[in-house]
Amino acid sequence: MTHRRAGGTSDRGRTAAAEERAWAELVTTARRTVADGLVVGTSGNVSVRVGDTVLVTPSGVPYDRLTPDDATGVDLAGRQVLGTLVPTSELPMHLAVYDADPAARAVVHTHAVHATAVSLLVPELPPVHYMTAALGGPVRVAPYAAYGTGELARGMLDALAGRTGCLLRNHGTITYGTSLDQAYDRTAQLEWMCRLWLTAASVPGRTPSLLTDAQLAEASERLRGYGQSG
Ligand code: 13P
Ligand code: ZN
Repeated sequence: MTHRRAGGTSDRGRTAAAEERAWAELVTTARRTVADGLVVGTSGNVSVRVGDTVLVTPSGVPYDRLTPDDATGVDLAGRQVLGTLVPTSELPMHLAVYDADPAARAVVHTHAVHATAVSLLVPELPPVHYMTAALGGPVRVAPYAAYGTGELARGMLDALAGRTGCLLRNHGTITYGTSLDQAYDRTAQLEWMCRLWLTAASVPGRTPSLLTDAQLAEASERLRGYGQSG
């Protein structure tokens, strides 16, 4: 049985408190993926890194049933250090992201329908919108491999080079960020862009216009100052 909890004001107590907060945010994010129609049932998974612990959604458990006592966590090598529920089957993808980018703090995987549809059609989502720049450039499609495999994780890492998200052929999306909100927002933007491209590309006799590399670079620069400063 693996269950780690501690209270008080010691380092262990502070770690436990940080994990509790992160777990609550993770559950909220996982529930949003269902509420926003990005997954059905127990599809998809979410993780958040707290120190050297990665909290993850358990495999095959409906998100509305998750309680504070269900917190599930692994170390960076995938050994379970928190909870007793079996971690998501997509641990290889989540851990590969944290290994590849030390700044990564959260990963969101979904089966969003428009994004998955695009993954069946092209090797890369054409740059139809400036939000392409928010993901680091045109979003690639990783080759198909069975869910939960190291092969899928390796293909994903190649597709993620220089990007914060990619599509997984015949499967779904994966995005990451420095917070759960950022990782989630990137998934939502990616799904929206896929829907936009499919909508425009489906008009008979017309071809969607695309942004140039220079236009994407300009958008990328402007996005750095987007929103409320400070
Ligand atoms: P888990 O329930 O094991 O997280 O699997 C869902 C999924 O999307 C696999 O790709
Ligand atoms: Zn999946």
